Parts: sequence; structure tokens; C-alpha cells
Amino acid sequence: MPFNIMTLSRVDMPVSQAEGLKILERDQYCCRYCGLDGKASFENALVMSVDFVVPRAHKGKKDPANLVACCRPCNTIKGTKVYKNFEEARKFVLAQREELRRSWEAQHARRAAKSALA
Ligand SMILES: [Zn+2]
Repeated sequence: MPFNIMTLSRVDMPVSQAEGLKILERDQYCCRYCGLDGKASFENALVMSVDFVVPRAHKGKKDPANLVACCRPCNTIKGTKVYKNFEEARKFVLAQREELRRSWEAQHARRAAKSALA
């Protein structure tokens, strides 16, 4: 990674730059929820961050076992809900993404149909 992606983050980082990079490297810069490859493009790299599996708001520890590489969309979808474990969180995030995709596709199809009629 030629640039330091962690320094681009505007929000205050709950983990230090070094800690964050360690997690991203361990997870090979891939979102552990959706599998987005943070190394595939600059745009992908920009959205990579580190997620607390058990949120800080619920006393989630700043421990590598509780931290995973995560893209911002998955992080937003996951929110601050508490899950039994990473697998349950991942299932929830993937199901939500699928639902969002379906409604986006339905909207997109309606728009395309409308412009075809115009
Ligand atoms: Zn993701």
C-alpha cells in the first residue's frame, strides 16, 4: 500500500494507526463481512476501516480478537447492534446488503422502464 490509508480517516480513530494497519494486514485489506478487496482500487482502499465486532459502546475491547477489517458500508449496516459472535454479525450484514440490493434493483428497473416509455 503506497499511501497510508489510516491517516485519511476523518473520524477519531478508536484504534491507533499502527494497530489499525496490523488488523488490515492480518485480514489482507479485505472486508471480513462482504469480502470487498481494499487493495483492488483506490476507491476500495478509501472505504476500508477497522470494525469492533462487539461495539465500543457495549464495552467491546480494543483487542485483535475483537477487531476486523471492514468496509464503511458494512460498518454502517452493522451499526451498534450487539451480536452473539462475528458469524452472527456477518450473517446480519450480508442479509441486509442483499435486501438493500434487491430494493435498489427494483428501483433501478422501475426507472429504466420509465425512461424506456418516455
Ligand atoms: Zn464490506
